[in-house]
Amino acid sequence: MLKKITISFVFFILSATASWAANGRFTLVIDAGHGGHDAGALGAFSKEKDINLNVALAFGRYVEQNLPDVNVIYTRKRDVFIPLHQRADIANKAKADLFISVHTNSVVPGHYAKGFQVYTLGMHRAKDNLDVAMRENSVISMEAGYQRTYQGFDPKSSESYIMFEFMQNANMEKSVELARLIQNSVCASAGRIDKGVHQAGFLVLRESYMPSCLIELGFITAADEEEYLNSPGGIDAMAKGIYEAFVKYKNMYDTHIVVPFRTADNKRIAVGRAIPALPADTPRPVAPATGRRQPKRNPPAAVQKPAQKKDSQPRQKGTGTEQQKNVPVFKVQVFATNRQMRPGCEQFRGHTDIDCVQEGNLYKYTIGSSTNYNEIARLREKLKKDFPQAFVIAYKDGVRMDTNQAIGEFLKNKRKK
Ligand SMILES: [Zn+2]
Repeated sequence: MLKKITISFVFFILSATASWAANGRFTLVIDAGHGGHDAGALGAFSKEKDINLNVALAFGRYVEQNLPDVNVIYTRKRDVFIPLHQRADIANKAKADLFISVHTNSVVPGHYAKGFQVYTLGMHRAKDNLDVAMRENSVISMEAGYQRTYQGFDPKSSESYIMFEFMQNANMEKSVELARLIQNSVCASAGRIDKGVHQAGFLVLRESYMPSCLIELGFITAADEEEYLNSPGGIDAMAKGIYEAFVKYKNMYDTHIVVPFRTADNKRIAVGRAIPALPADTPRPVAPATGRRQPKRNPPAAVQKPAQKKDSQPRQKGTGTEQQKNVPVFKVQVFATNRQMRPGCEQFRGHTDIDCVQEGNLYKYTIGSSTNYNEIARLREKLKKDFPQAFVIAYKDGVRMDTNQAIGEFLKNKRKK
């Protein structure tokens, strides 16, 4: 859920620098990591925040000069502090097509490492990857009230990272492809040591709802890499390598010209009700929740039904407690997108029991609804053949909650019975 302050901040940024993705252009958000009082990693003579900004701006200039159909948005163009969640909010608000975060790595004194790496969001148990994510995420402790903002996430506790197992989303495939392209391109054009594509639990990637990756340009703690990343030639070669990968990615995935998603028919879909409305005799895997939906932001005018259609199906075992207050309700999220989909579209894979919930600028498509986590976990397994990236999400009293916490409450309630 977006915070009020965030909204006004983001609005300020967007009104100043952005045109909307809806105008048919590909929107790229470039995020120079750290800034202001958050210097990031420290080298012998330079700071991570400055290297990140120089490369981010140089990359953006290549795009602006060569690809007029791309709308480039920077999370920062100056040396200012921007909280992690606001960086993601900027991309979400702009309905960006791609989010690229630029960082520089480091190792603790007494250790030595060199090379170029690109990360995508995901859970990887390798300790090295976890260490990088922990260091990059630790900047949230500079934000006032971060425990509230990030729902109790502790950047230094490895337990907090378990939740990233649920974060395998529909953008995974594109993100990994993007990471692979950048990894190959930069290592070839800038002659960097190839440390490969990795996955780790980066908060800034978790909070952004589009394909994304996080680049670690090199190690500021390695003297020659620090030198290189601060040289005009080095900055240009890194930026050019990233740019060339971006061109390849865009040629592969940019569908802005070919497929206009917002057809006239879309206007008749009421966000939040089942899409499409089912005939009464259609069997459903589980009974849908009624009156439990996430409060919607700006529902389309004149299309909202006055009341939810009452479900005439007999409730199946395990779903009878759905009306209980203060109990987590689980659903399988099959994918999410920043554009509303047509009923019966190819992405639904022939499923007609898909619900749509709008959260902010994001349309989340879910199947099933039950207070019984096991039932939804089984449903997720079944759905995996059609939606390999499907994962379980949880709501309480219509408000999205952390899935791990919800499972914990489910188990506790079960023990009480
Ligand atoms: Zn960093």
